[in-house]
Amino acid sequence: MLASEAVPLAKTGGLADVVGALAVELTRLGHEVRLVLPRYRGLEDGPVALRETHRFRVPLRHDHVEVALETGTLKGDKGPVVCVRYDPFFDRPGLYGDAAGDYPDNLDRFALFCRAAIEACKELGWAPDIVHAHDWQTALAIVYLKTLYQSDTTWTAPRTLFTIHNMGYQGLFPPAEYPATGLPAADFTAGGLEFYGQINLLKGGMIYADLLNTVSPTYAKEIQTPEYGYRLEGVLQTRKDRLFGIINGIDYDVWNPTTDAHISANYSQKDMSGKKTCKTALRRELKLPQRDVPLLGMVSRLALQKGIDLLVDTLPKLLALDVQMVMLGSGDALYQAELTNLSERFVGKFAVRLGFDDGLAHRIEAGADMFVMPSRYEPCGLNQLYSLRYGTIPVVRKTGGLADTVVPYLPGHAVEKATGFVFEDAHPEVLLSTLYLALQVYRDKTEWADLIKRGMKQDFSWKRSAKEYVALYERALVETKPAAPPDRDTFPRGRFR
Ligand code: ADP
Repeated sequence: MLASEAVPLAKTGGLADVVGALAVELTRLGHEVRLVLPRYRGLEDGPVALRETHRFRVPLRHDHVEVALETGTLKGDKGPVVCVRYDPFFDRPGLYGDAAGDYPDNLDRFALFCRAAIEACKELGWAPDIVHAHDWQTALAIVYLKTLYQSDTTWTAPRTLFTIHNMGYQGLFPPAEYPATGLPAADFTAGGLEFYGQINLLKGGMIYADLLNTVSPTYAKEIQTPEYGYRLEGVLQTRKDRLFGIINGIDYDVWNPTTDAHISANYSQKDMSGKKTCKTALRRELKLPQRDVPLLGMVSRLALQKGIDLLVDTLPKLLALDVQMVMLGSGDALYQAELTNLSERFVGKFAVRLGFDDGLAHRIEAGADMFVMPSRYEPCGLNQLYSLRYGTIPVVRKTGGLADTVVPYLPGHAVEKATGFVFEDAHPEVLLSTLYLALQVYRDKTEWADLIKRGMKQDFSWKRSAKEYVALYERALVETKPAAPPDRDTFPRGRFR
């Protein structure tokens, strides 16, 4: 399992939650998983004790560099972690960049990581059945396996699964940097990594992987259209019979109102009294007056993807009602300024905290009555799943994983199945009317309690999702079996010759 981030070692977003939890769950299911990550700064003080076990040389441009492998075990014997250490690339303050933007040598950094990850298998004497790579940072590993390592006779080549977590991040680099990939210049074509004159790593993963998936069935369909495909829809259409959608699970050990240590009072479906305490505490923390009115919450990256502009345009009318809202976010400076302005205009009604604060994210999930996610696109989305678990009714746009996980409340229409409120058009007025509907239902205590109960009962555990991944791995092994080499039977899978 190759990734650029995974909890508990390194996280900038949902990718880390997914990779970390999936690796653990697969191990729990009895599979032999090795999670391979770059050895970033600070991991020495992290939750996994790492120890250098190997040193070897890896090609980089026209030279070689020496990398080290540091290995450790996830706490509770939840499987091995292998970190690729090359300090000139990974001993830096950020994972992908700093305040000045993305690191200019990200192509070299992740090309080296991918190459080292494959070489690591050889150093470890461990030939995986499957290489599962996530997002553009690890796409080159898949490309390498199908190109540079294609005629490698020292192992039964692993099958590959490539997971696309977000089409908005493709790993684009100028063509002059192509030598950093280590691939023959003649391969820089439209049938490979070339994309409108640039290098596109995500595209490489899409073309070369045996199987592809993204993180919800709806997003898997959406990305084959121009609206969501970011100009890669054509490539995806050619691979649509190999493209699947698997909803992310969530880690119920971390996001569980019954045991959550970040919140003021724990609660469960059976005894919801703690949720009231959490609401009071959240108002106190955000300095909102203690009034018996609906409290809306939102935790989000401040990016166009998340529909922050829709929210900003909706807030003046929403806040004219007797409601309160809290918002936690980090990202785009323009949105930060707009949200801050609104919080100054609607003192006592709208509170904003800028920055990344895991504890507060938990307290908002627990303390709010509703959770707003007006995303323009959302591959899966985790916050709506946390909200369902915390009895906080999601109000979401019908896109990607949001469409797959929230059952809409439609007046007079199977409301007994609903778990939240869903709107379709990415327009402030449509968001507003959906919020009006939610606020109207909120006043009906019985109806609201039913919504909460149904949401809390939903099962989005990793157990379910991990089994779907196992099914894809098995499919990759069976359906994409190459012509058997003549000596195949004498060299069982998983062993080096
Ligand atoms: P994405 O990965 O696109 O940002 P997801 O909903 O899949 O969106 O996952 C976001 C994760 O990051 C969630 O665990 C969410 O709680 C967390 N998160 C996002 N912004 C913040 C923030 N400002 N502070 C704390 N946690 C945040």
